[in-house]
Amino acid sequence: MTAAHASAAPFEVDWEHAAAILPRYVEAGPRYTSYPTAPVWDAAYGAAAFREDLARLAERPGDPLSVYVHVPFCRSLCHFCACNRVITEKPELPARYLDAIAREVETVRSAAGVARPVSQLHWGGGTPTHLAPEQIERLFSAVTGAFPLAAGAECSIEVDPRVTTARQVETLAALGFTRISLGVQDFDPVVQKAIHRVQSVEQTAELVAGARAAGFHSVAFDLIYGLPYQSEASMQRTLDRVLGLAPDRVALYSYAHVTWVAKQQRGFERHDLPEPAAKLRILVDAIRRFLAAGYVYVGFDHFARPDDPLAAALAAGTLRRNFMGYTTQAGVDLVGFGPSAISELSGAYAQSARELGAWEAAVESGGLATIRGHRLDADDRRRAWVIARLLCQGALEPAEYAARFGEPFAERFAAELASLAPLERDGLVERGDGGRLALRPLGRLLARCVAMRFDAYLPAQQGGAQPLFSRTV
Ligand code: SF4
Repeated sequence: MTAAHASAAPFEVDWEHAAAILPRYVEAGPRYTSYPTAPVWDAAYGAAAFREDLARLAERPGDPLSVYVHVPFCRSLCHFCACNRVITEKPELPARYLDAIAREVETVRSAAGVARPVSQLHWGGGTPTHLAPEQIERLFSAVTGAFPLAAGAECSIEVDPRVTTARQVETLAALGFTRISLGVQDFDPVVQKAIHRVQSVEQTAELVAGARAAGFHSVAFDLIYGLPYQSEASMQRTLDRVLGLAPDRVALYSYAHVTWVAKQQRGFERHDLPEPAAKLRILVDAIRRFLAAGYVYVGFDHFARPDDPLAAALAAGTLRRNFMGYTTQAGVDLVGFGPSAISELSGAYAQSARELGAWEAAVESGGLATIRGHRLDADDRRRAWVIARLLCQGALEPAEYAARFGEPFAERFAAELASLAPLERDGLVERGDGGRLALRPLGRLLARCVAMRFDAYLPAQQGGAQPLFSRTV
């Protein structure tokens, strides 16, 4: 059975069994948008190392490039949010940011020595539509003037329906943006009040209709499960409304309670955060609803219509994960601009200063704002591949591993495979012909727990005084 077929199959979970084994898997663990994960990266990889890696882009000048732009501004703080954002109404901050981005793009372009064609441009935040239409145009020109868009490039943007105007949507469409992702989170009024994000269904519907009329061919929603006061019943009502608006893609993220990063989340501890078993039920109900409505379960936390490129990439085995979630751009170098942005170049990760002022100071002086990174070694590459296979395909073929890395999978990962024995007994994974390792439905829900068994850095990260990761459920 291919991964795509598996994803469209009915999603059955034995609740009595799930409840019995769940306590063994509620642990702190990474989401694996990278391997090694960000806490492993360090300052030994700084601006000089990033400059060297940028220079390597010229070795393959015709290869496509993926570009991410982080726009950190928001008008008000959503209390669940652990993103890197600056809450402001001051117009001077975005104006300064735009000057600094133009400078950063210039520096990166000169270090790269080549204007690789951009096959994917994504703006995230923060709230990119915090920028006025003229500022959106300016930002777009700064980036695409240095790194021109390839024919058929995919341009996508994250927006907040509460602050996005028809003029902004028309400006984005005129520039060539075709994918728009709306922050929704939850439509329940009680939940919305608790998370400090009140957003009506009508507001969201109006933006969906406006985006489609302007020519956006893909509308995605971001939802979160595990928020305060959420219940299976309240989520069903939210899903009724979501399905009524017929998004092309849905990301249903697990709420990450990370109070050491997002202090305002402490307020939720007085509220009714759903317990792990309730969270899992909400997720399974949602998966069933999306499958019944004709969506493909792309994996982990993503759903897409069957004709969506994500579903096609899942079927073709070319789906990948990166900092933007799931992507169809397998193996494409990624350059990030803006505070906290992450780049992923020929086997290295580089992250810019998180704080707006520090990032601005670094780029305005003509430098790169890199504060930490990591160059993958041979072992990292193998483990990154294994983890990506499990999270993107839900299965791993040892023969494919052997063909790629020239060694038997079972020998290289003997200890890790032995550590999976309890997970096999608990029904998370199964071994098949030729040693094939596959996630079962329960294992897809707890995919992080399976991936963690292949993370060589995790044992040293666990048990420290400072927590590093959110809970797996
Ligand atoms: S959830 Fe989005 S809009 Fe809300 S504070 Fe975070 S980045 Fe800003």
